[in-house]
Amino acid sequence: ANGPQKRYSITLLPGDGIGPEVISVAKDVLKLTGSLEGIEFNFQEMPMGGSALDLVGVPLPDETLAAAKNSDAVLLGAIGGYKWDNNAKHLKPETGLLQIREGLKVFANLRPATVLPQVLVEASTLKREVAEGVDVMVVRELTGGIYFGKPRGFRTDENGEEVGFNTEVYAAYEIDRIARVAFETARKRQGRLCSVDKANVLEASMLWRRRVTAIAEEYPDVELSHMYVDNAAMQLVRNPKQVFDTIVTNNIFGDILSDEASMITGSIGMLPSASLGSSVLTKSRFRLFEPIHGSAPDIAGQDKANPLATILSAAMLLKYGLEEEDAARRIENAVLDTLNKGLRTGDIYSTGTVSDLFMLKASLACFLA
Ligand code: ATP
Ligand code: MG
Repeated sequence: ANGPQKRYSITLLPGDGIGPEVISVAKDVLKLTGSLEGIEFNFQEMPMGGSALDLVGVPLPDETLAAAKNSDAVLLGAIGGYKWDNNAKHLKPETGLLQIREGLKVFANLRPATVLPQVLVEASTLKREVAEGVDVMVVRELTGGIYFGKPRGFRTDENGEEVGFNTEVYAAYEIDRIARVAFETARKRQGRLCSVDKANVLEASMLWRRRVTAIAEEYPDVELSHMYVDNAAMQLVRNPKQVFDTIVTNNIFGDILSDEASMITGSIGMLPSASLGSSVLTKSRFRLFEPIHGSAPDIAGQDKANPLATILSAAMLLKYGLEEEDAARRIENAVLDTLNKGLRTGDIYSTGTVSDLFMLKASLACFLA
């Protein structure tokens, strides 16, 4: 190639705890990948979370949101920590996370749970024969449903009893757009989509099932099935690989099922995520990519953090955010090659492997090229 042909601006939000450590490794990986694939990245690092609170008194400064909105994609490390645990609600680092999702209007959260053969023995919490080969993608609706529905609150009922209440609300357009993201995601995978709901009990779920079924007509190449959430929770630990390829579900069910699915793989230090603001096939921006783990303050600053979840988030950024699938594959392969060589961080270390962050980074660079 004769120098870079493509340019993208990436906002980096390192955050707190191990966030800055894992973002720094992922940035190096992106830079190197870009130079090999003819892509130039323009990185801008901005404060967010507890570090922004300490610096300017709010968890998501206006400048940070503006930078994120003006870039092609956003890579976030992790936020929060003991230090801010007793803060008032509006001064919690986690508030920044809700604000940036809202500000970027990301309504679809994609979480792959993949069991890599290289780390199966040490990582999985399930029996080997159940976990082996699991590769499930959970597509969770992120901005609607019971977490946001109104009315909500506390009141006192006619017997003087205190009552807490919430409302599950979904509009047809909200279901249609998450369904399209899910069908397009399934299309990039094995072409099987399972929609999870509670349509035998909840009206919002009945509408969900009707809309997803209607949208399916736009995707004749994707095989659609429906499952009740209680059954899905059971199948996930019983027979995940035979039953699931891509799952689409609402906000609260997705919250629970994506955590359940990630425990099949064992190590949260390995798992990426993507939050998309629109159809994955359209070229609109505002996409947020982050590891699923938190800021892990217990191991921050000790060179122990596994950077692979963030590196794989960077690969999702390339694949789902920028449609740079070759560059994404280059990163995924370098991760697999590095694991194949036996290199690990401490969280997935076992006998016969080498736990050394420095060597892991060097090996990644070597396999990328
Ligand atoms: P949050 O509330 O922000 O999700 P959490 O308390 O639920 O945070 P994490 O911060 O995700 O939990 O981490 C839980 C534990 O897992 C950490 O204390 C740490 O020991 C381990 N851990 C998390 N991420 C990593 C990583 N990337 N590498 C190694 N260990 C990790
Ligand atoms: Mg957590």
